[in-house]
Amino acid sequence: MPSGPADRLAFPAGFLWGAATSAHQVEGGNTGNDWWRFEHRPGVIRGDRCSGDACRHLQLFDADFALAQADGHNAHRLSLEWSRLEPEPGRFDPGAVAHYHEVLGSLRRRGLEPIVTLHHFTNPLWIADAGGWEARATVDHFASFVRFCAREYGGEVDWWCTVNEPEVFAFRGWSEGLWPPAVRDNSRALAVIANQLEAHGRAYRVLHAEDRADADGDGAPARVGFAKHRVQLEPLRPWHPLDQLQAWFERRVFNEAVEQATAEGLIQLSLPGARPVRRVVQELVGALDWYGLNYYTRWMVRSLSPDPHVTRPGSERNDLGWEVWPEGFERAILAAARLGKPVLVTENGFADARDELRPGAIVRFVEAMHRAIASGARVLGYLHWSLLDNFEWADGYHGRFGLYAVDFDRPERPRTRRRSAEVLARIARANALTSEARAAAAGS
Ligand code: BGC
Repeated sequence: MPSGPADRLAFPAGFLWGAATSAHQVEGGNTGNDWWRFEHRPGVIRGDRCSGDACRHLQLFDADFALAQADGHNAHRLSLEWSRLEPEPGRFDPGAVAHYHEVLGSLRRRGLEPIVTLHHFTNPLWIADAGGWEARATVDHFASFVRFCAREYGGEVDWWCTVNEPEVFAFRGWSEGLWPPAVRDNSRALAVIANQLEAHGRAYRVLHAEDRADADGDGAPARVGFAKHRVQLEPLRPWHPLDQLQAWFERRVFNEAVEQATAEGLIQLSLPGARPVRRVVQELVGALDWYGLNYYTRWMVRSLSPDPHVTRPGSERNDLGWEVWPEGFERAILAAARLGKPVLVTENGFADARDELRPGAIVRFVEAMHRAIASGARVLGYLHWSLLDNFEWADGYHGRFGLYAVDFDRPERPRTRRRSAEVLARIARANALTSEARAAAAGS
Protein backbone atom coordinates (compact mmCIF):
# COMPACT_ATOMS: atom_id res chain seq x y z
CA MET A 1 0.00 0.00 0.00
CA PRO A 2 1.34 3.48 -0.80
CA SER A 3 2.53 5.38 2.24
CA GLY A 4 2.97 9.09 2.88
CA PRO A 5 3.58 11.57 5.63
CA ALA A 6 2.88 10.22 9.10
CA ASP A 7 -0.63 11.61 9.39
CA ARG A 8 -1.63 10.52 5.91
CA LEU A 9 -3.17 7.07 5.73
CA ALA A 10 -3.44 5.99 2.11
CA PHE A 11 -5.83 3.34 0.79
CA PRO A 12 -5.24 0.86 -2.02
CA ALA A 13 -5.71 2.06 -5.61
CA GLY A 14 -9.27 1.59 -6.84
CA PHE A 15 -10.71 1.70 -3.33
CA LEU A 16 -14.47 2.30 -3.39
CA TRP A 17 -15.76 5.26 -1.38
CA GLY A 18 -19.41 6.13 -1.15
CA ALA A 19 -22.64 5.82 0.73
CA ALA A 20 -25.42 3.26 1.05
CA THR A 21 -29.21 3.48 1.06
CA SER A 22 -32.13 1.07 0.72
CA ALA A 23 -35.21 1.57 -1.40
CA HIS A 24 -37.92 1.62 1.24
CA GLN A 25 -35.94 3.93 3.49
CA VAL A 26 -35.46 6.67 0.91
CA GLU A 27 -37.75 6.30 -2.10
CA GLY A 28 -41.20 6.96 -0.65
CA GLY A 29 -44.54 5.55 -1.71
CA ASN A 30 -43.70 1.85 -1.49
CA THR A 31 -47.32 0.92 -0.91
CA GLY A 32 -47.04 -2.66 -2.12
CA ASN A 33 -44.74 -4.10 0.53
CA ASP A 34 -45.16 -5.60 3.99
CA TRP A 35 -43.43 -2.70 5.73
CA TRP A 36 -45.93 -0.19 4.38
CA ARG A 37 -48.78 -2.27 5.76
CA PHE A 38 -47.00 -2.83 9.09
CA GLU A 39 -46.21 0.87 9.60
CA HIS A 40 -49.89 1.72 9.54
CA ARG A 41 -50.58 -0.31 12.69
CA PRO A 42 -50.78 2.05 15.65
CA GLY A 43 -47.87 1.99 18.06
CA VAL A 44 -45.33 -0.02 16.07
CA ILE A 45 -43.23 2.89 14.81
CA ARG A 46 -41.54 5.36 17.11
CA GLY A 47 -43.37 8.67 16.85
CA ASP A 48 -46.15 6.86 14.93
CA ARG A 49 -44.74 8.15 11.66
CA CYS A 50 -44.95 6.01 8.53
CA SER A 51 -42.40 5.96 5.73
CA GLY A 52 -44.81 7.95 3.52
CA ASP A 53 -42.87 9.96 0.97
CA ALA A 54 -39.62 9.16 2.81
CA CYS A 55 -36.86 11.28 1.17
CA ARG A 56 -38.71 11.49 -2.17
CA HIS A 57 -35.61 9.84 -3.59
CA LEU A 58 -37.87 8.23 -6.17
CA GLN A 59 -38.14 11.67 -7.77
CA LEU A 60 -34.89 13.22 -6.54
CA PHE A 61 -32.41 10.40 -7.14
CA ASP A 62 -30.42 12.23 -9.81
CA ALA A 63 -29.95 15.31 -7.63
CA ASP A 64 -28.95 13.05 -4.74
CA PHE A 65 -26.36 11.28 -6.87
CA ALA A 66 -25.06 14.69 -7.93
CA LEU A 67 -24.34 15.38 -4.24
CA ALA A 68 -22.43 12.10 -3.94
CA GLN A 69 -20.50 12.83 -7.13
CA ALA A 70 -19.57 16.31 -5.95
CA ASP A 71 -18.31 14.75 -2.72
CA GLY A 72 -15.85 12.59 -4.62
CA HIS A 73 -17.70 9.30 -4.15
CA ASN A 74 -16.98 6.65 -6.75
CA ALA A 75 -19.55 4.05 -5.65
CA HIS A 76 -23.07 3.92 -4.32
CA ARG A 77 -25.07 1.10 -2.74
CA LEU A 78 -28.82 1.01 -3.35
CA SER A 79 -31.54 -1.62 -3.37
CA LEU A 80 -34.14 -2.57 -5.95
CA GLU A 81 -37.63 -2.62 -4.46
CA TRP A 82 -39.02 -6.06 -5.23
CA SER A 83 -42.66 -5.01 -4.62
CA ARG A 84 -42.32 -2.19 -7.14
CA LEU A 85 -40.72 -4.34 -9.82
CA GLU A 86 -42.91 -7.44 -9.36
CA PRO A 87 -46.21 -6.28 -7.85
CA GLU A 88 -47.83 -9.65 -8.62
CA PRO A 89 -46.14 -13.02 -9.04
CA GLY A 90 -44.46 -13.12 -12.43
CA ARG A 91 -45.80 -9.72 -13.56
CA PHE A 92 -43.09 -7.07 -13.85
CA ASP A 93 -44.14 -3.46 -13.96
CA PRO A 94 -42.69 -1.71 -17.04
CA GLY A 95 -42.67 1.72 -15.34
CA ALA A 96 -40.70 0.41 -12.37
CA VAL A 97 -38.33 -1.51 -14.64
CA ALA A 98 -37.65 1.68 -16.63
CA HIS A 99 -37.23 3.68 -13.43
CA TYR A 100 -34.33 1.56 -12.20
CA HIS A 101 -32.67 1.79 -15.63
CA GLU A 102 -32.78 5.56 -15.17
CA VAL A 103 -31.37 5.25 -11.68
CA LEU A 104 -28.51 3.02 -12.81
CA GLY A 105 -27.87 5.27 -15.81
CA SER A 106 -27.64 8.29 -13.55
CA LEU A 107 -25.15 6.53 -11.28
CA ARG A 108 -23.00 5.47 -14.20
CA ARG A 109 -23.04 8.93 -15.76
CA ARG A 110 -21.90 10.37 -12.47
CA GLY A 111 -19.05 7.92 -12.08
CA LEU A 112 -20.68 6.06 -9.19
CA GLU A 113 -20.23 2.28 -9.35
CA PRO A 114 -23.64 0.76 -8.51
CA ILE A 115 -23.65 -1.86 -5.78
CA VAL A 116 -27.11 -3.34 -6.00
CA THR A 117 -28.90 -5.09 -3.16
CA LEU A 118 -31.70 -7.44 -4.13
CA HIS A 119 -33.35 -7.89 -0.74
CA HIS A 120 -33.19 -5.20 1.91
CA PHE A 121 -35.85 -6.21 4.47
CA THR A 122 -39.02 -5.47 2.45
CA ASN A 123 -41.23 -8.02 0.69
CA PRO A 124 -44.06 -7.74 -1.80
CA LEU A 125 -47.38 -8.28 -0.04
CA TRP A 126 -47.99 -11.39 -2.12
CA ILE A 127 -44.81 -12.90 -0.67
CA ALA A 128 -45.64 -11.87 2.90
CA ASP A 129 -49.16 -13.29 2.58
CA ALA A 130 -47.96 -16.61 1.26
CA GLY A 131 -45.87 -17.43 4.34
CA GLY A 132 -43.07 -14.90 3.79
CA TRP A 133 -39.57 -16.13 4.49
CA GLU A 134 -40.80 -19.07 6.55
CA ALA A 135 -41.97 -20.66 3.30
CA ARG A 136 -39.42 -22.49 1.16
CA ALA A 137 -41.41 -21.34 -1.89
CA THR A 138 -40.16 -17.80 -1.17
CA VAL A 139 -36.64 -18.97 -1.99
CA ASP A 140 -37.87 -20.01 -5.45
CA HIS A 141 -39.76 -16.75 -5.96
CA PHE A 142 -36.71 -14.78 -4.94
CA ALA A 143 -34.50 -16.75 -7.33
CA SER A 144 -36.89 -15.91 -10.20
CA PHE A 145 -36.83 -12.25 -9.22
CA VAL A 146 -33.03 -12.33 -9.15
CA ARG A 147 -32.95 -13.96 -12.61
CA PHE A 148 -35.17 -11.20 -13.94
CA CYS A 149 -32.92 -8.50 -12.45
CA ALA A 150 -29.76 -10.18 -13.75
CA ARG A 151 -31.16 -10.32 -17.30
CA GLU A 152 -32.61 -6.83 -17.18
CA TYR A 153 -29.82 -4.97 -15.41
CA GLY A 154 -26.79 -7.25 -15.75
CA GLY A 155 -25.29 -5.01 -18.45
CA GLU A 156 -25.33 -2.06 -16.03
CA VAL A 157 -24.46 -3.80 -12.77
CA ASP A 158 -21.31 -5.70 -11.85
CA TRP A 159 -21.64 -5.65 -8.06
CA TRP A 160 -24.59 -7.54 -6.61
CA CYS A 161 -25.49 -7.87 -2.96
CA THR A 162 -28.04 -10.67 -2.59
CA VAL A 163 -29.54 -10.27 0.88
CA ASN A 164 -29.05 -7.66 3.57
CA GLU A 165 -28.46 -8.89 7.11
CA PRO A 166 -30.36 -12.21 7.12
CA GLU A 167 -29.82 -12.48 10.87
CA VAL A 168 -31.11 -8.98 11.73
CA PHE A 169 -34.07 -9.46 9.40
CA ALA A 170 -34.97 -12.76 11.09
CA PHE A 171 -34.46 -11.74 14.70
CA ARG A 172 -36.21 -8.40 14.49
CA GLY A 173 -39.22 -9.85 12.66
CA TRP A 174 -39.57 -13.32 14.14
CA SER A 175 -37.81 -13.32 17.51
CA GLU A 176 -38.16 -9.82 18.97
CA GLY A 177 -41.36 -9.18 17.03
CA LEU A 178 -40.45 -5.55 16.39
CA TRP A 179 -40.65 -5.72 12.59
CA PRO A 180 -43.14 -7.45 10.31
CA PRO A 181 -44.52 -10.05 10.70
CA ALA A 182 -44.12 -9.29 14.45
CA VAL A 183 -43.67 -12.91 15.55
CA ARG A 184 -41.88 -13.90 18.75
CA ASP A 185 -40.64 -17.41 18.20
CA ASN A 186 -36.96 -18.34 17.96
CA SER A 187 -37.67 -21.55 16.06
CA ARG A 188 -39.37 -19.60 13.33
CA ALA A 189 -36.55 -17.03 13.33
CA LEU A 190 -34.00 -19.79 12.70
CA ALA A 191 -36.10 -21.12 9.81
CA VAL A 192 -36.09 -17.62 8.28
CA ILE A 193 -32.30 -17.26 8.53
CA ALA A 194 -31.90 -20.66 6.88
CA ASN A 195 -34.20 -19.72 4.01
CA GLN A 196 -32.45 -16.40 3.50
CA LEU A 197 -29.08 -18.15 3.41
CA GLU A 198 -30.38 -20.68 0.94
CA ALA A 199 -31.75 -17.79 -1.12
CA HIS A 200 -28.30 -16.21 -1.11
CA GLY A 201 -26.79 -19.44 -2.48
CA ARG A 202 -29.43 -19.67 -5.20
CA ALA A 203 -29.03 -16.00 -6.11
CA TYR A 204 -25.25 -16.36 -6.27
CA ARG A 205 -25.55 -19.16 -8.83
CA VAL A 206 -28.25 -17.39 -10.84
CA LEU A 207 -26.26 -14.14 -11.04
CA HIS A 208 -23.13 -15.92 -12.22
CA ALA A 209 -25.01 -18.12 -14.71
CA GLU A 210 -26.77 -15.09 -16.20
CA ASP A 211 -23.53 -13.16 -16.27
CA ARG A 212 -21.90 -15.86 -18.39
CA ALA A 213 -24.88 -15.77 -20.72
CA ASP A 214 -24.74 -11.95 -20.81
CA ALA A 215 -24.48 -11.09 -24.48
CA ASP A 216 -23.55 -7.45 -24.00
CA GLY A 217 -19.97 -8.50 -23.37
CA ASP A 218 -19.23 -5.61 -21.03
CA GLY A 219 -16.29 -7.65 -19.89
CA ALA A 220 -16.58 -7.09 -16.16
CA PRO A 221 -17.57 -10.27 -14.36
CA ALA A 222 -20.40 -10.19 -11.83
CA ARG A 223 -19.14 -9.92 -8.27
CA VAL A 224 -21.63 -11.27 -5.79
CA GLY A 225 -21.73 -10.94 -2.02
CA PHE A 226 -24.14 -10.40 0.81
CA ALA A 227 -24.28 -7.84 3.61
CA LYS A 228 -23.68 -9.22 7.06
CA HIS A 229 -24.28 -7.25 10.23
CA ARG A 230 -21.31 -8.31 12.32
CA VAL A 231 -22.25 -7.06 15.75
CA GLN A 232 -19.77 -7.71 18.54
CA LEU A 233 -21.44 -9.71 21.32
CA GLU A 234 -19.77 -9.94 24.71
CA PRO A 235 -20.86 -11.00 28.20
CA LEU A 236 -21.89 -7.99 30.27
CA ARG A 237 -20.45 -9.65 33.37
CA PRO A 238 -17.38 -11.50 32.09
CA TRP A 239 -17.29 -13.68 35.23
CA HIS A 240 -20.92 -14.79 34.90
CA PRO A 241 -21.19 -18.26 33.30
CA LEU A 242 -24.71 -17.66 31.98
CA ASP A 243 -23.77 -14.33 30.36
CA GLN A 244 -20.78 -16.10 28.80
CA LEU A 245 -22.91 -18.96 27.54
CA GLN A 246 -25.59 -16.75 26.08
CA ALA A 247 -23.01 -14.51 24.37
CA TRP A 248 -21.38 -17.65 22.93
CA PHE A 249 -24.70 -18.94 21.56
CA GLU A 250 -25.57 -15.57 20.07
CA ARG A 251 -22.17 -15.13 18.44
CA ARG A 252 -22.48 -18.61 17.05
CA VAL A 253 -25.96 -18.18 15.54
CA PHE A 254 -25.68 -14.52 14.63
CA ASN A 255 -22.19 -14.34 13.17
CA GLU A 256 -20.38 -17.62 12.83
CA ALA A 257 -23.18 -19.86 11.52
CA VAL A 258 -23.94 -17.40 8.74
CA GLU A 259 -20.28 -17.35 7.73
CA GLN A 260 -19.92 -21.12 7.99
CA ALA A 261 -22.91 -21.54 5.66
CA THR A 262 -21.24 -19.66 2.82
CA ALA A 263 -17.90 -21.34 3.35
CA GLU A 264 -19.05 -24.96 3.70
CA GLY A 265 -22.63 -25.02 2.46
CA LEU A 266 -23.81 -26.25 5.85
CA ILE A 267 -26.57 -24.30 7.57
CA GLN A 268 -26.43 -25.21 11.22
CA LEU A 269 -28.45 -23.02 13.56
CA SER A 270 -29.47 -23.57 17.16
CA LEU A 271 -30.57 -21.63 20.20
CA PRO A 272 -31.64 -22.99 23.60
CA GLY A 273 -35.34 -23.85 23.50
CA ALA A 274 -35.62 -23.48 19.72
CA ARG A 275 -36.00 -26.09 16.99
CA PRO A 276 -32.51 -26.41 15.45
CA VAL A 277 -31.87 -26.29 11.71
CA ARG A 278 -29.33 -28.43 9.90
CA ARG A 279 -29.40 -28.24 6.13
CA VAL A 280 -26.79 -28.87 3.45
CA VAL A 281 -27.10 -26.48 0.51
CA GLN A 282 -24.61 -27.26 -2.24
CA GLU A 283 -25.22 -23.90 -3.94
CA LEU A 284 -23.86 -22.16 -0.86
CA VAL A 285 -20.40 -23.75 -1.01
CA GLY A 286 -17.96 -20.91 -1.67
CA ALA A 287 -20.87 -18.65 -2.67
CA LEU A 288 -19.18 -15.36 -1.86
CA ASP A 289 -16.97 -13.21 -4.08
CA TRP A 290 -16.77 -10.58 -1.36
CA TYR A 291 -17.99 -10.27 2.19
CA GLY A 292 -20.25 -7.26 2.72
CA LEU A 293 -19.70 -6.03 6.23
CA ASN A 294 -22.22 -3.85 8.02
CA TYR A 295 -20.73 -2.66 11.27
CA TYR A 296 -22.32 -0.44 13.88
CA THR A 297 -21.72 -1.45 17.48
CA ARG A 298 -21.28 -4.06 20.18
CA TRP A 299 -23.92 -5.39 22.50
CA MET A 300 -23.23 -6.60 26.00
CA VAL A 301 -25.22 -9.75 26.70
CA ARG A 302 -27.09 -10.08 29.99
CA SER A 303 -28.61 -13.47 30.73
CA LEU A 304 -31.97 -14.07 32.44
CA SER A 305 -33.14 -10.59 31.63
CA PRO A 306 -36.11 -9.32 29.62
CA ASP A 307 -33.67 -6.88 28.03
CA PRO A 308 -30.74 -9.14 27.08
CA HIS A 309 -28.70 -6.58 25.11
CA VAL A 310 -27.36 -3.51 26.79
CA THR A 311 -24.83 -0.85 25.92
CA ARG A 312 -21.55 -1.07 27.81
CA PRO A 313 -21.85 1.21 30.83
CA GLY A 314 -19.98 4.49 30.43
CA SER A 315 -19.42 4.11 26.69
CA GLU A 316 -19.72 6.80 24.03
CA ARG A 317 -23.15 6.45 22.36
CA ASN A 318 -25.04 7.64 19.32
CA ASP A 319 -28.60 9.02 19.33
CA LEU A 320 -30.03 5.49 19.38
CA GLY A 321 -27.92 4.58 22.42
CA TRP A 322 -25.50 2.37 20.45
CA GLU A 323 -21.89 2.28 21.56
CA VAL A 324 -19.44 3.96 19.18
CA TRP A 325 -16.42 1.65 19.25
CA PRO A 326 -13.87 1.86 16.41
CA GLU A 327 -11.83 -1.05 17.75
CA GLY A 328 -14.87 -3.27 17.24
CA PHE A 329 -14.89 -2.24 13.59
CA GLU A 330 -11.25 -3.26 13.21
CA ARG A 331 -11.99 -6.61 14.87
CA ALA A 332 -15.07 -7.14 12.70
CA ILE A 333 -13.07 -6.51 9.50
CA LEU A 334 -10.35 -8.91 10.62
CA ALA A 335 -12.92 -11.55 11.55
CA ALA A 336 -14.70 -11.14 8.20
CA ALA A 337 -11.40 -11.33 6.32
CA ARG A 338 -10.63 -14.70 7.94
CA LEU A 339 -13.14 -16.21 5.53
CA GLY A 340 -10.53 -15.62 2.83
CA LYS A 341 -12.66 -13.27 0.73
CA PRO A 342 -12.14 -9.55 0.23
CA VAL A 343 -14.27 -7.40 2.50
CA LEU A 344 -16.45 -4.55 1.29
CA VAL A 345 -17.78 -2.33 4.05
CA THR A 346 -21.38 -2.15 2.88
CA GLU A 347 -22.52 -0.07 5.89
CA ASN A 348 -21.04 1.86 8.76
CA GLY A 349 -22.60 4.93 10.29
CA PHE A 350 -23.86 6.83 13.28
CA ALA A 351 -27.29 8.15 14.28
CA ASP A 352 -26.38 11.72 15.16
CA ALA A 353 -28.94 14.38 14.31
CA ARG A 354 -26.68 17.26 15.38
CA ASP A 355 -23.62 15.87 13.59
CA GLU A 356 -21.49 16.36 16.69
CA LEU A 357 -20.06 12.90 17.02
CA ARG A 358 -20.10 11.72 13.40
CA PRO A 359 -17.28 13.84 11.86
CA GLY A 360 -14.73 12.59 14.38
CA ALA A 361 -16.17 9.09 14.36
CA ILE A 362 -15.69 8.82 10.59
CA VAL A 363 -12.01 9.62 11.08
CA ARG A 364 -11.61 7.09 13.90
CA PHE A 365 -13.44 4.37 11.98
CA VAL A 366 -11.42 5.00 8.82
CA GLU A 367 -8.27 4.77 10.96
CA ALA A 368 -9.53 1.46 12.34
CA MET A 369 -10.15 0.19 8.81
CA HIS A 370 -6.64 1.24 7.85
CA ARG A 371 -5.21 -0.72 10.78
CA ALA A 372 -7.15 -3.79 9.67
CA ILE A 373 -5.72 -3.43 6.15
CA ALA A 374 -2.22 -3.00 7.57
CA SER A 375 -2.76 -6.26 9.49
CA GLY A 376 -3.48 -8.06 6.23
CA ALA A 377 -7.24 -7.74 5.61
CA ARG A 378 -8.16 -7.20 1.97
CA VAL A 379 -10.71 -4.38 1.98
CA LEU A 380 -12.31 -3.18 -1.25
CA GLY A 381 -14.17 -0.11 -0.10
CA TYR A 382 -16.18 1.79 2.46
CA LEU A 383 -19.83 2.75 2.01
CA HIS A 384 -21.15 5.03 4.69
CA TRP A 385 -24.65 4.55 6.04
CA SER A 386 -26.20 6.72 4.80
CA LEU A 387 -26.18 9.39 2.11
CA LEU A 388 -29.40 10.87 3.52
CA ASP A 389 -31.36 10.83 6.74
CA ASN A 390 -34.05 8.26 6.08
CA PHE A 391 -36.81 6.06 7.43
CA GLU A 392 -35.09 4.11 10.19
CA TRP A 393 -37.56 1.18 10.34
CA ALA A 394 -39.26 0.85 13.75
CA ASP A 395 -37.34 3.92 14.94
CA GLY A 396 -39.25 5.95 12.36
CA TYR A 397 -37.54 9.25 11.67
CA HIS A 398 -35.72 9.23 14.98
CA GLY A 399 -32.29 7.84 13.97
CA ARG A 400 -30.62 10.36 11.65
CA PHE A 401 -27.76 8.67 9.81
CA GLY A 402 -27.32 10.98 6.81
CA LEU A 403 -24.25 12.72 5.48
CA TYR A 404 -27.04 15.04 4.36
CA ALA A 405 -29.85 16.05 6.72
CA VAL A 406 -33.37 15.81 5.33
CA ASP A 407 -36.21 18.00 6.57
CA PHE A 408 -39.12 15.57 6.81
CA ASP A 409 -41.52 18.31 7.91
CA ARG A 410 -41.37 20.01 4.53
CA PRO A 411 -43.07 18.42 1.54
CA GLU A 412 -40.07 19.08 -0.76
CA ARG A 413 -37.78 17.27 1.70
CA PRO A 414 -34.84 19.67 1.36
CA ARG A 415 -31.34 18.30 1.99
CA THR A 416 -28.70 20.11 4.05
CA ARG A 417 -25.07 19.15 3.86
CA ARG A 418 -23.51 18.12 7.15
CA ARG A 419 -19.87 18.61 8.07
CA SER A 420 -19.53 14.83 7.94
CA ALA A 421 -20.15 14.96 4.20
CA GLU A 422 -17.10 17.19 3.88
CA VAL A 423 -14.97 14.84 6.01
CA LEU A 424 -15.83 11.84 3.87
CA ALA A 425 -15.45 13.90 0.69
CA ARG A 426 -11.88 14.85 1.60
CA ILE A 427 -11.03 11.23 2.35
CA ALA A 428 -12.65 9.98 -0.86
CA ARG A 429 -11.01 12.56 -3.11
CA ALA A 430 -7.55 11.87 -1.69
CA ASN A 431 -8.14 8.11 -1.35
CA ALA A 432 -6.46 8.71 1.97
CA LEU A 433 -7.12 10.02 5.42
CA THR A 434 -5.30 13.34 5.28
CA SER A 435 -4.64 16.24 7.59
CA GLU A 436 -7.28 18.17 5.57
CA ALA A 437 -9.90 15.55 6.41
CA ARG A 438 -8.86 15.60 10.06
CA ALA A 439 -9.14 19.38 10.03
CA ALA A 440 -12.66 19.18 8.57
CA ALA A 441 -13.61 16.73 11.31
CA ALA A 442 -12.25 19.08 13.92
CA GLY A 443 -14.31 21.91 12.43
CA SER A 444 -11.35 23.92 11.26
C1 BGC B 1 -29.67 -1.77 8.01
C2 BGC B 1 -30.16 -0.40 7.60
C3 BGC B 1 -30.39 0.45 8.83
C4 BGC B 1 -29.06 0.60 9.56
C5 BGC B 1 -29.12 1.47 10.80
C6 BGC B 1 -28.68 -1.77 9.14
O1 BGC B 1 -29.01 -2.78 10.03
O2 BGC B 1 -29.20 -2.47 6.91
O3 BGC B 1 -31.33 -0.57 6.85
O4 BGC B 1 -30.95 1.69 8.55
O5 BGC B 1 -28.62 -0.67 9.96
O6 BGC B 1 -29.93 0.92 11.76
